[in-house]
Amino acid sequence: MDIALSKEERAFAERMRTFFTTEIPADIRSRLARGEHATREDIVTSQRIMNEHGLAVPHWPTEWGGQGWTPVQRHLHAEEMLLAHVPPPLAFNTQMVGPVIATFGSQEIKERFLPKTANLDIWWCQGFSEPNAGSDLASLKTTAVREGDEYVVNGQKTWTTLGQWADWIFCLVRTDPDAKKQRGISFLLIDMATPGVTVRPIQLIDGGHEVNEVFFENVRVPAENLVGQENAGWDYAKFLLGNERTGVVAVGQTKARIKRIKRIAAETKVGDRTLLDDPLFRAKLTRLEVEVTAIEMSVLRVLDAEGRTGSGKPDPVSSVLKLKGSELQQEATELLVDVLGPAALGYRETADVPDGFAELRDGAVDALPTYFNWRKASIYSGSNEVQRTIIAKAILKF
Ligand SMILES: Cc1cc2nc3c(=O)[nH]c(=O)nc-3n(C[C@H](O)[C@H](O)[C@H](O)COP(=O)(O)OP(=O)(O)OC[C@H]3O[C@@H](n4cnc5c(N)ncnc54)[C@H](O)[C@@H]3O)c2cc1C
Repeated sequence: MDIALSKEERAFAERMRTFFTTEIPADIRSRLARGEHATREDIVTSQRIMNEHGLAVPHWPTEWGGQGWTPVQRHLHAEEMLLAHVPPPLAFNTQMVGPVIATFGSQEIKERFLPKTANLDIWWCQGFSEPNAGSDLASLKTTAVREGDEYVVNGQKTWTTLGQWADWIFCLVRTDPDAKKQRGISFLLIDMATPGVTVRPIQLIDGGHEVNEVFFENVRVPAENLVGQENAGWDYAKFLLGNERTGVVAVGQTKARIKRIKRIAAETKVGDRTLLDDPLFRAKLTRLEVEVTAIEMSVLRVLDAEGRTGSGKPDPVSSVLKLKGSELQQEATELLVDVLGPAALGYRETADVPDGFAELRDGAVDALPTYFNWRKASIYSGSNEVQRTIIAKAILKF
């Protein structure tokens, strides 16, 4: 496949680069470049600026803010955003619930939710996993029982990312306990402020608070908050998960991390040379770069095929992208720790860094927590073991 960009595509990338580096506040971008996490405010601010310029949901249908771009343009937009250290639009909104509502929702539900979802006036979280329904998601037990024009919801979700910041949660709930398990599931939108919803934090190994448990106790949800047909939620979930897997590859983020690794290696003295001149280190770095280029080409191929067939259906190859993309993200966080050496151990002041090691520049503050944090990438969006099974069945036909 020819990955050389056309003149128009290069001009498009340049336009994106200019936008991201001039319109998104430098303060946000420089904190993210140092390896800090984006705050809720950072994400809201950036997404609203992007939305004002038509750049928050370019992949949505044009009537709801989409741009009708080619797959390559969509890729360049995402890539330039991550290379400029801009917090991406909230995936729960733009990659997950938004496309589901736009594809399967009624006109009324689209009008009610899509503009606010694009502008991050509503912060969504994802209520799929339960304590005994992760990989085997169709075993979920949270029930929604119809009573008049309401559903009464009872049960528990877990691993709910940033649920503590969310206004609404999109949930998979069991509406028919007697049907075959995939056929008794519905896709329901629940206001987090409804009485009976409780959010409890889960502490992670990096010390952060990113995920939660969410409990539902006799939560009364208007029936009009159902997306699409009752008991057809599994189809919508599969559609959503396919999009999620293509989205989590985040090539631009891995590339930005590699750039930082190179910069630090170039500043780290090993004898009379720098670490970047070390042949073993270079071999490691080059292998990572080659693999990132390969996954980038695959992302473009998948997006291109989706664009050409116009089916909008996720390709099973998205499982290959998720598997390989998450491994590369993890390798990059590991190499960043390697290159920082003892500085990765959490020295907060430059003065504390031992002689001969890179001073605390890009990424040192967060390198080790980030390394721990990214172990998640091979678990979420369907664990990598499960992706291997999908690949075996759907692609290799075992
Ligand atoms: C940081 C983080 C954020 C998350 N955010 C969200 C969120 O916002 N919303 C949400 O709904 N969920 C979220 N998840 C949940 C995530 O989707 C699940 O953790 C994932 O699907 C795995 O399910 P589980 O944790 O129940 O593990 P299990 O399914 O119990 O799996 C345990 C182990 O067994 C392996 N395994 C299980 N079944 C098979 C099989 N058939 N073949 C081979 N191996 C298998 C798995 O690969 C894994 O290694 C998040 C998870 C993490 C770690």
